[in-house]
Amino acid sequence: MTASPAPPAEPVAFPYEQLLAYYRGELADRRLAAEIEQHLSTDPRWEAHWESIRYLDLERAAAMQDAEDLQRYLAGLSVAIDPFCKAVALSDGMILVPVVERRSDTREGTWEQWADHLDLCVYCRRMQRSVLAYRTQQQLGLTGPLLREWLLESVYAPLLASATNTIIRAVAVSVLYPTNEGFRAVQVGDRREDLASPTGSRGGKGAEWYWNASEEATGVLRTRGTQEGEPESSAVPALPRKIEFSRELAGNRGSLEVTFKIAESGNLVCEVALSLPQGAAPSPEVTLEVALNDQVSSHTGTESPLRVRVEGGKPDPEGLGGLGTRITVRQGQEIWDESAFKFGR
Ligand SMILES: [Zn+2]
Repeated sequence: MTASPAPPAEPVAFPYEQLLAYYRGELADRRLAAEIEQHLSTDPRWEAHWESIRYLDLERAAAMQDAEDLQRYLAGLSVAIDPFCKAVALSDGMILVPVVERRSDTREGTWEQWADHLDLCVYCRRMQRSVLAYRTQQQLGLTGPLLREWLLESVYAPLLASATNTIIRAVAVSVLYPTNEGFRAVQVGDRREDLASPTGSRGGKGAEWYWNASEEATGVLRTRGTQEGEPESSAVPALPRKIEFSRELAGNRGSLEVTFKIAESGNLVCEVALSLPQGAAPSPEVTLEVALNDQVSSHTGTESPLRVRVEGGKPDPEGLGGLGTRITVRQGQEIWDESAFKFGR
């Protein structure tokens, strides 16, 4: 008989209160204190929680101050939104990971310019702290947030979420909700369409963009939830695997088409095509640029349509969940059009 491996331990809630009591020297139970010390010296997860509250008084003061500054930041958001803040909001802060961990440049600026912005901007700075804390949580397989976040999150998290939503509403054409089987919802402007619902609309117009959701171009209609013998009418429509957006560019510069697809591989693909007005080859040439967070693809030319295709990862929370795409059409340094799309979780 071969010994079967022990089943993986059920994730249990981390004993935040116990560790906090120990930290404050309020733990009367000596055996428990010894156990905690044992964990702290051997378990990187305990160590991470402990490390997160090393300067708790300072952390608390900083969180209160940030909350106050975030109120002011929110009040000023209606004026103009900084490109750095846009990129952070569109990526749920994930764009800061390569910037901070690898000192990468992005299309918004160099690593040094990011560092300057982070010094000045409470929104991006706090988003950075949250996203790095979340990374630690994921990497160590913690069952909940770091102790510091657990304690202080309520001070600033609602303000951060509100700032992110305000920016997204101001800059994104649409929020798409991709899954491995297709898109389950799309939000254009204030209107959110549930694409899994048989009565939901699968197209329309919002903010100068037309949108249309359809099955994959192969014409294979996938149905979900149909059991044999079940009446046809109860079938849930398949989720659309393709959503197209299109709009006319200002100044008769042509039309832009942005297509999001869930490929057979399960990856999310973004295809952008710029059709120029007939017979009018632009001079000098035009650049089409698609940025999927810090990953940028571009194509410069005079042909019509001008195309760029970017294949992203799987649309799960570990892959693309929460990220965004930014599309720029420019001639040299002159920007013709900028648009952004966000992927919701
Ligand atoms: Zn910012």
